[in-house]
Amino acid sequence: MFDNLSDKLDKAFHILKGHGKITEVNVAETLKEVRRALLDADVNFKIAKDFTNKVKEKAIGQDVLTTLQPGQLMVKIVKDELIELMGGDAVGVNLSGNPTVILMSGLQGSGKTTFSGKLANFLKTKKTKKPLLVACDIYRPAAINQLHVVGDQIGVEVYSEPENKNAVSIATNAIDYAKKNGFNVVIVDTAGRLAIDEEMMNEIANVHAAIKPQETLFVVDSMTGQDAVNTAKAFNDRLNFDGVILTKLDGDTRGGAAISIKSIVNKPIKFIGTGEKMDAIDVFYPDRMADRILGMGDVISLVERAQEQYDEEEARKLQKKIAKNEFGFDDFLSQIQQVKKMGSMKDLVGMIPGVGKAMKDIEIEDDAFKHIEAIIHSMTPVERKKPTLLDAKRKLRIAKGSGTDIQQVNQLLKQFDQMSKMMKMMQGAQGKNLMRMMGQ
Ligand code: GDP
Repeated sequence: MFDNLSDKLDKAFHILKGHGKITEVNVAETLKEVRRALLDADVNFKIAKDFTNKVKEKAIGQDVLTTLQPGQLMVKIVKDELIELMGGDAVGVNLSGNPTVILMSGLQGSGKTTFSGKLANFLKTKKTKKPLLVACDIYRPAAINQLHVVGDQIGVEVYSEPENKNAVSIATNAIDYAKKNGFNVVIVDTAGRLAIDEEMMNEIANVHAAIKPQETLFVVDSMTGQDAVNTAKAFNDRLNFDGVILTKLDGDTRGGAAISIKSIVNKPIKFIGTGEKMDAIDVFYPDRMADRILGMGDVISLVERAQEQYDEEEARKLQKKIAKNEFGFDDFLSQIQQVKKMGSMKDLVGMIPGVGKAMKDIEIEDDAFKHIEAIIHSMTPVERKKPTLLDAKRKLRIAKGSGTDIQQVNQLLKQFDQMSKMMKMMQGAQGKNLMRMMGQ
């Protein structure tokens, strides 16, 4: 995410970090580089100019020239400005009303249908709501099917009327259906065209007027940069929407949309989409995004994801097993499964400060654990409990069964052995202190 922009900003700050004596010229040069980095990231020219002007004012006000670490102070000023530009605090969705009606708008291909599913799944699991998805695309039968596929995936009912060619009546019928059947959130996925056209705008404006949604969300593909901002403006002029959803932030996004959109339409970004899977949704936090843009990682989100997967009961059982020397490959496998639930590897690595940038050119496979899992699956239950049983013959069988080779099996056994030793140490006297320090 934003690798290019992060790199360029980093270089800009180097100008200040490298000099023994900081002069006004250095500061001006840094600001010029910051502006260039923003423009390269497809940030609107006026926004980039205002941005650097504000940073300059603050830098003068805080006497950057006389501080001991001018580079650091500049980074902080830029970070604060980025947060401000992207909206300050995080803003949630308005869930008032029974049912709460949420209308999705945006161009075709922006990720509306995918996001409708993600949001339904998010509300269902995090907020214990009962959502209904509504297919309101009267032009493309495939779009209706797509929403049904998404609904099946997440176990959420989808309302559709394939024969009905009136979007307003489908949407109002769906709300009646929701009221009668105990759904408390209705998410209406509408038709999108490839470009803004009057007919589409009229249709969605009519649906909007008829169903009076508590939330109208505008979904936009973050890869489209300044175009995203222009489309947002056109939709906002007609719908006066409540919030923006930025999708495809997992891709090669330059960052322009994330940085500019709030100040153009004056509406908050509420969620981001970071992948095609149904759990690739995150609440948008301007401060965390600023950290990411500045290559500082996002430890808070990482810890939150770990906490979501943390099961206290499981952890206790695991500790007992380690103490009794009973930690086996089945436990190892379930640990891997937990890590995988936290999200894609690339995404997770990107959240570690400094690491994301250092590893940006290294391809991290999402199925990084594929071989390990295959090897463990090829072991018998007894072997998984007692790895010491694994002699050369058994190892060969496992390698064949898992489509790996004997070296890979040996490597895993070695890693497992090291890990077991380390865990035992953690349990020992020294480890107790360590665990206490870590709040265990
Ligand atoms: P719609 O036409 O607006 O309903 O868009 P879709 O939901 O059909 O999405 C268009 C394409 O973008 C599909 O191939 C989705 O899988 C993909 N997509 C949607 N959201 C994301 C995202 O956050 N990240 C990535 N990488 N792809 C996404």
